[in-house]
Amino acid sequence: MTDPLLAHAAELVDQADALVVAAGAGMGVDSGLPDFRGDSGFWRAYPALGASGLKFTEVASPETFRRDPALAWGFYGHRLALYRRTVPHDGFAILRRWGERMERGLFVYTSNVDGQFQRAGFDAASLHECHGAIERLQCTRPCSLATWSADALQPDIDEAACRWRGPLPTCPNCGALARPAILMFGDSAWIEREFEQQAARLDAWLACVRRPVEVELGAGTHIPSVRHFGQRVLTRHGGRLVRINPRESSVPLNADVGLPLGALAGLRAIDAVLAGLG
Ligand SMILES: [Zn+2]
Repeated sequence: MTDPLLAHAAELVDQADALVVAAGAGMGVDSGLPDFRGDSGFWRAYPALGASGLKFTEVASPETFRRDPALAWGFYGHRLALYRRTVPHDGFAILRRWGERMERGLFVYTSNVDGQFQRAGFDAASLHECHGAIERLQCTRPCSLATWSADALQPDIDEAACRWRGPLPTCPNCGALARPAILMFGDSAWIEREFEQQAARLDAWLACVRRPVEVELGAGTHIPSVRHFGQRVLTRHGGRLVRINPRESSVPLNADVGLPLGALAGLRAIDAVLAGLG
């Protein structure tokens, strides 16, 4: 017998004309990526920073690019290399398959900067990376609103010290230090122009959907960008919510569904029910 919550979730996916994927940090966990919830999780992933007592909010800041650029680039360069060698888990393929079956297709809203949706074959024109992207760079100054690809960057990191080896990435326009085009903590210099363009494409797409289902994955209340976005979609465009979250799965309305599962387990379980529906 099918769990009633799973049956409800499968029904919401089955009847929708469009899939809104709303992904938070928990989405990457099943691919083996660390989430930086709490200092202890961050320091487990970066022991060198734990030894010096530096918090995530301190390292991931424009201030660290000013004060100790080799450390800042040690951290971001390590993440860039990690994300490049990470294979997205099967939940990404399940979402793509669902979206392909729906009349209006899918759009992804993600707070993750890790590029995993692109790596899993999602169309870059159907993504809004609300906190930016690690594969995009900008000037720290910044001397212009330009962002550029990090393709040419091959990180060489002293992992024991979390430090970038060799010459640091620079702005091709003015020669100042470059940085990832990611929203950091205490950041007033993030260049979000291309990410605002993504947001405009998302809004145009949402204007054409009639019965969206929003599948929210691993998005907690701690950094609530994804939840705020999701609420805005449901308020303005209607539709129903499937929240998949191992710790914070409650949903405000009975018409919606919360599954207390990790992203991959939740997607697989719903997909199995959908397969049974034919
Ligand atoms: Zn510059």
